[in-house]
Amino acid sequence: MRKGRLYVFTGPSGAGKGTVLHELLAQAPGIFLSVSATTRAPRPGEQDGVHYYFLTEREFQQKIAEKAFLEYAKYVDHYYGTLEAPVDERISEGMDVVLEIDVQGAMQVHAKRPDAVLVFLTPPSLEELAGRLRGRGTESEEKVLKRLEAARRELEYQAQFDYVVVNDRVENAVGQLKQIVLGNRG
Ligand code: 5GP
Repeated sequence: MRKGRLYVFTGPSGAGKGTVLHELLAQAPGIFLSVSATTRAPRPGEQDGVHYYFLTEREFQQKIAEKAFLEYAKYVDHYYGTLEAPVDERISEGMDVVLEIDVQGAMQVHAKRPDAVLVFLTPPSLEELAGRLRGRGTESEEKVLKRLEAARRELEYQAQFDYVVVNDRVENAVGQLKQIVLGNRG
């Protein structure tokens, strides 16, 4: 049976990764979106085991010690990581697996799994990104500024990705992603 492929989907917070992925999953079957673990608090409406596995710092450290993570990183003030076992399970079942993770994690996956396809989603501009982050209203101004600072650093890594997709319009970004995934299936 054909094995699935591993995709890393990265881009600054506010670039629209969630929206684009949601659409991609609705339009292209056979893709599994990995559920990450994090130590940050759930946002309103986020469910444990659906959007993230919400762990305490102690539980997260325990997983690190067990070497359960394919990759993990500290982003702004919290830990985020991808549990390796469910990813490998889906890939061996023939599903393409998408990791929606930050650049630090992307570089770890690239080193560990050189066959992973790295996609970077970029906002049309930093001004647009700032507007989206503030408009979302889920973070305090202090956190928004920290995320913008992280975004500036993250944008410098674009060149190390296999594909860069500009999220000017969601339909365009989704269309390009679909082509990438279907193209890699051959
Ligand atoms: P948020 O708090 O907005 O859900 O996520 C903040 C950042 O953490 C985003 O850039 C997101 O892509 C990243 N992130 C989410 N899950 C993971 C993960 O498992 N590993 C890494 N390295 N980053 C992650």
